[in-house]
Amino acid sequence: MNRIEIKTTSRNQMVDITSKIAENIPGKFDGIVIVYVPHTTAAITINEGADPSVRIDMLYLLSKLAPQNDSYSHMEGNADAHIKAALIGNSVTIIVEKGNMIMGTWQKIFFCEFDGPRTRKILMELIAR
Ligand code: ZN
Repeated sequence: MNRIEIKTTSRNQMVDITSKIAENIPGKFDGIVIVYVPHTTAAITINEGADPSVRIDMLYLLSKLAPQNDSYSHMEGNADAHIKAALIGNSVTIIVEKGNMIMGTWQKIFFCEFDGPRTRKILMELIAR
């Protein structure tokens, strides 16, 4: 298992971590890589990385679904972050061939921060074919 640390800079933020994941995959590896976030107010997803407005739109919609201030029961002040993290999910699995992740032209892996800025962990597990 590999542990990657990431420092986020905003309360809500999507950070492209594709190169951080890629650099931890051995050159001739065949199998799958699981990328997992061990947090309840952060998430991970794969989506378009070419146009930054896609990230802005995703965060915009999530903030409409779960506004920061609403009549929540959770008293920590971050109920919206828990809800957003649950909606996006906490892991992705990617097929790896000869050390390369098989991804679409526009796909990137994003760490999604919903209660930042914070220092966060990302866990990676390689499972050989
Ligand atoms: Zn909380």
